This record gives sequence, C-alpha cells and structure tokens, in this order.
Amino acid sequence: MNRPGQAPPEYGAAPPRALDADTPVRYARGVGPARAALLAELGVSTVRDLLYMLPRRVEDRSRLRPIYELQHGAVETVQGTIGAVRQFRPRGRRGLVITRAAVTDGSGVLHAVWYNQPYLARHLTHGRAVVLHGRVARRAGEIQMAAPEFELVDHGEETLHVGRIVPVYRSTSGLSQRVLRTTVLHTLDDAAPIVREWLPEGLRRRHRLPDVGTALRQVHFPDTLETHAAARRRFVYEELLLLELLLLRQKAAWEAEPRTIHYGDASELVTRFHAGLPFPLTQAQRRVIAEIAADLSRPHPMNRLLQGDVGSGKTLVAATALLQCVGGGAQGALMAPTEILAGQHYLTLHNLLEALGLTVILLVGGLPRAARQEALQAARDGRADIVVGTHALIEEEVEFHRLGLVVVDEQHRFGVGQRAALRQKGDCPDVLVMTATPIPRTLALTLYGDLDVSTLDELPPGRTPVKTYTRPTSRRPQVYEFVRSQVAQGRQAYIVCPVIEESDKLQAESALALASRLQDGAFRDLRVGVLHGRMPVEKRDAAMRALRAGEIDVLVATTVIEVGIDIPNATVMVVEDADRFGLSQLHQLRGRVGRGAHEAYCILIADVKEEDEVGARRLAAMVETGDGFRIAQHDLELRGAGEFLGERRQAELRQHGASDLRIANLVRDHEWLEHARRDAEEVLRGDPDLARSEHADLAEALRLRFGGARVENARVG
Ligand code: ADP
Ligand code: MG
Repeated sequence: MNRPGQAPPEYGAAPPRALDADTPVRYARGVGPARAALLAELGVSTVRDLLYMLPRRVEDRSRLRPIYELQHGAVETVQGTIGAVRQFRPRGRRGLVITRAAVTDGSGVLHAVWYNQPYLARHLTHGRAVVLHGRVARRAGEIQMAAPEFELVDHGEETLHVGRIVPVYRSTSGLSQRVLRTTVLHTLDDAAPIVREWLPEGLRRRHRLPDVGTALRQVHFPDTLETHAAARRRFVYEELLLLELLLLRQKAAWEAEPRTIHYGDASELVTRFHAGLPFPLTQAQRRVIAEIAADLSRPHPMNRLLQGDVGSGKTLVAATALLQCVGGGAQGALMAPTEILAGQHYLTLHNLLEALGLTVILLVGGLPRAARQEALQAARDGRADIVVGTHALIEEEVEFHRLGLVVVDEQHRFGVGQRAALRQKGDCPDVLVMTATPIPRTLALTLYGDLDVSTLDELPPGRTPVKTYTRPTSRRPQVYEFVRSQVAQGRQAYIVCPVIEESDKLQAESALALASRLQDGAFRDLRVGVLHGRMPVEKRDAAMRALRAGEIDVLVATTVIEVGIDIPNATVMVVEDADRFGLSQLHQLRGRVGRGAHEAYCILIADVKEEDEVGARRLAAMVETGDGFRIAQHDLELRGAGEFLGERRQAELRQHGASDLRIANLVRDHEWLEHARRDAEEVLRGDPDLARSEHADLAEALRLRFGGARVENARVG
C-alpha cells in the first residue's frame, strides 16, 4: 500500500502537506483541481467530506459466484472476460438501441444487455476483465443480466478492486469507481488518524458502535460484511444524533422565548361558539382544542403542528384557536395556499364567527384597489379581528395592530420563508401550522422535531368511506352516465382534468375545452361549470358561489381544487389521467367528496401502461384504502424516502441550516432515529447548551455538520 509521499505518478504531484480534516479535498493525494471539481458535484469539498462519502453499497468480490451457478432472479456479482460485443436496433422498436456483451469466466457464458446506451460499445472491449452486478435471468437457455452495473478491471489490480469486499460509490461522469476507490484509500491512510472522535464514549458503548477511525476504514474497505454494517450503523447513528440535537435545541430556543401577548379569558365566547354548531365536536377535536388552549396560556409562544387527514375538521380547530385569540384581545391571521381556499376559509370563518361579534376580512392578491386599501387599513388599526388570505398577507404593506396568533393551512404548500415572514408580522406570535398530509411518526420526529405535534385521528361520525374505482378511458361513457345518475339525485360532481406541468395556461385551456365539450355533449342538459387557476378572482368566486348554492351540477376543474374545498353536497370525483397524479395528490382530490351524509365516489380514469408498475400500484393503493396514514406509508414505499420527503424535508431541514441527510435513510433506519432522539434528549437534559467539556467535540461536530451557529437565531418556520 502506498504511504504518504509515495503517490503513484498517474496521480500527479500533490504537495506533500499535512492534511487535516478541513483541508480542501484538492490537496488530498491524487486529487488536484480537476478531480476536486468533479468531487464537488458529489458534495465533497474537504478531506472530511471525502472520508464521509460513504459507499452506496459494498460488493463482496472475494467470493464471486461462477456463472454456471447463477440462479434465475438472484442479484449477483460476477467477474469474467468480455467476448463478443454486439450493438443493434431491433426492428419495430423505433429509437431503441441494444448493446449485448458475452462475458465468460470459464464456467459459462453470461449475456449482459443494455438499452439505449450506445456509447457502451466503446468501453466494452474484447478481452478486458469486467465485474458485473445485477439481477440474473435465465431464459431461452441463456443466462442474462439486464442493464447490470459494470466495472472494467485490469489484470493485476486484484488487491483493491477485486478479490475483496469493495465499495461502490455514487459516481459522477469523469470519476470512475477505481479513481474514487483509490482516492478514498489514500486519504484514509493520510487523514483518518486525525479525524476526531466526538461521539461520547457512553453512547458509543451503549450501542456497541466502533470508534471513528475503525468505522471509517471498515465502512470503505471492510474486512467482513458484518464490520461494514457495524461501521455504517455508527455513521447513521451519528448523523441522526446530530440532527436530533439540532432540532431539540431549536425547540428549546423557541420555548425559551417569553410570551409577549397575554390573552384575556375567552372561554365564555368559545362555549357559545361550540354550543351554536350544528354538530358536536369529535373527541379528537376536543383533545386538540384543549392542547392549543393550554399552549396559549403558557409563558412561551405556541409552536404547534396540527396534522389530520382530509376531512378531519381542522378548520374548526383553527377557528376555535382564532376565537380564543381574538376574544382574548389580539388579532389572528390565517394563511392558505390558494385564493380559492382562502376565499372559502373567509366565508366559513365569517359565517361561524360573525354572530359572536368578530370581524373577519379577506386579503388576497386579486382584490380591487379600494377594497385592498380598506382591508389593509382594517388590519392596521385593529378593526379586523381576523385576516384571512394567501401569501398576499406577507407583503411588506401588510401590518397588524396586535397580531397574536398565526395559522397556516396546508403548510407544506408554503416555503419556509413565507411562513417565517407571516410570523414576523407580529412580535413572537403563537403559531399553528396545519397539514392534511400525515407522515409516519418516526418521520415526524425528523421533519417536525422542533414542533409540538397534535393529531386529529378521528373523522366526524357518519362518514362512509369514499367508494373508489379505476376505469379505463374506454369506459368513460359509463362513468358519465353514473355522474348523471348522481346529479339526478340532487348531488354534484367534480371532473379533474389532466395535469399539464409545463404551463398553467395550457392547463386552463384544457379545462375550458373539456368543460365545453361536456356541456355540448354528455352533459347537454346539465349545468357545467369550470374552475382553473388563471381565472380572475370575481369569476372564480362566482363559480365557487354557484357551486355552493347548487347552481352547478358538474364542475370541471384543474388541480386548483386539490386543497381544502369543502362542498358537502358533492359526491363524485372523477380524475382524468389519474395515473399521472401523485398518490397524496389523489388522496387530497378524493378528500373533496364524502364530506356530507351521502354516499360518495371517486373514479380514477386511466389506461395504465404495462410497464408503469408504480403507476398501477398507486391506483391500487387508492382503491384499497381511504386512510391517509396508510396512503402516506404506501407513498413512502413507492417513491422511497428521498423523493417522498424530498421537497418537504429539504425545506424543513434547510431552515435549520441542515442540507439533508446524507447517510441515514429515514425509512430503513427508523429504529436508530428513535435511539438518537432519546439519547439527544438525555444529553441535553444534563447539558442543554452542550457547554460541558466532555461535549465539546459534540458541539463542534454539530457546528461542522449543520452550521450550529444558526440554532439560536433561526426564528423561521
Ligand atoms: P379538513 O381537516 O380537511 O380541513 P374541514 O375542516 O374542511 O376538514 O372539515 C370537513 C367537513 O367536516 C366540513 O364540512 C366541516 O363542517 C365538517 N365537520 C367538522 N367537524 C365536524 C364534526 N365534529 N362533526 C361533523 N362534521 C364536522
Ligand atoms: Mg382544510
């Protein structure tokens, strides 16, 4: 093995300088500016980053299976020599290029097949040694691997790249596995000894985790698969521990803020409000309302997330909280992601609270000038008790007289910055954020680890599950017939047209076109309305009013109706091209019906293509369950944690200065998340500021990983 200073010539002359963990990776042996630029694409900028660039997986190349032993369906790694390579375009499949290589290992022949990667033919040269990794298929007397990962190896390289357990990294073009492997190995030799151990001894012992030096070596170049797994566990744990420390400290920082608004007693108003409702509150609503009431009388501002499935009655909880705030002498604000939803909330709150003497106003982007000035003035001088709006609420001009409570509905639709901006309109106001997209508990620990969480886990009584069906496009006439029969019984229906991602304009046009086609055809004698995102406010309001008043039988709409719309008389939701919607989006859309006493239906129209297995499973999940938590779990499994959480987690974490989890997988590693949470709580209980000397390294690691300086002042979210 090479020692420092003995870099092989192919790696150029790196200056023989002492590395420490913060040294730019450019100075690591064998790197230099060009490779440093490529490494930067992998998120690696320092020596530490390089060492912490954990392999995507390791491959046991110490005991490779002979080709003749390969079993159909197994995922295997084989090594052999490339024989004939053929590239061709099969007739009748326009645009498809197939590359086939025969690989032999003396025991048999394996046919590797790649699709549409014409450049491969240049790399797969006859006579070279190659390692292939992929799923084996035995068909038509042949042993095949479709689209395997491959790596060319040179004879005589057996020590590092074959004949042992080797790491396989996420790669970028221009950095081969061999270069990555060699670079990591050299850097381990040069720098691993100086990476400081920061995990407290006690925690390391408790979970039987290797020390950092051992773990770094074993995670990259393990002696056995077991030592690799143990090393990986350590990094998963340390990452999650840091994250939980960060979130808990954030929470503590918020909780340490003194309350500036002290509410008077509004219990009499609240009692009257509830007594006047046409239905009793659910148990879950009572519980959550009590949790919020307790928050509002604590000496620190509230920071609570309310999650509850579509239709669980979150609006009423928000209305109660707002009433408490206003009755207690302050103003409230409610922000919703679309003008339609804001308009609806305005109506609901107005109808619910006006009788109790409250003034509710609406502030959205499309208001006429005079009305807008009036609304701004009312918010400023305190005449408006509750201001409902879209992100128009956070514009510079908007000022409140005395803002006590901020409610954000469908909060996952907002950027972190927008929520923060609303909060800034007051002086440490109470904050309630609401979401209808439930997430499994362990994920909530990460995503919302710094919030208190309330859950509405009960739907109002009398709701029957929405009957859900999938239908091919050829059955559209029958679907329309069914819609007609529902309308004949006095009900209303939605038809959601396909998503057109490229443009709102095209999407609006497609809604208009569908609406007029239906009005002139299948629904000639019905009243067809249309709703899309580009309609002027007045027209949209008119459409919503007409729908509510029962003057529209069938509403053709874009996904603008996805969130919040609440028309109890609507009983049919038809979704066109349903296979192109995400699972949680379908669930939200379905949630627009089944809100009243009548039996409700959701019909998903799609011709699912044979190869679209995920699309088919999404639709199957919709048919199988109406439970938002199960849907979320399915969604998670189908998309993987990364994508599922993608946007949301990134946004949530970024507000803490954390980029993203690089190592831990929140689904697979959920047990470690629980450990990390508990341990972080324990550490902070004894040493809330991580000020003790035994935690100095921990505090430093936190700073390095998440830029811990932002913990105290990141008052956002
Ligand atoms: P979401 O949680 O999806 O925002 P909403 O607040 O829009 O749900 O409530 C859905 C529907 O359920 C509304 O029509 C609302 O009036 C009704 N609702 C709310 N609470 C109850 C209850 N306790 N009993 C019966 N109906 C209720
Ligand atoms: Mg809602």
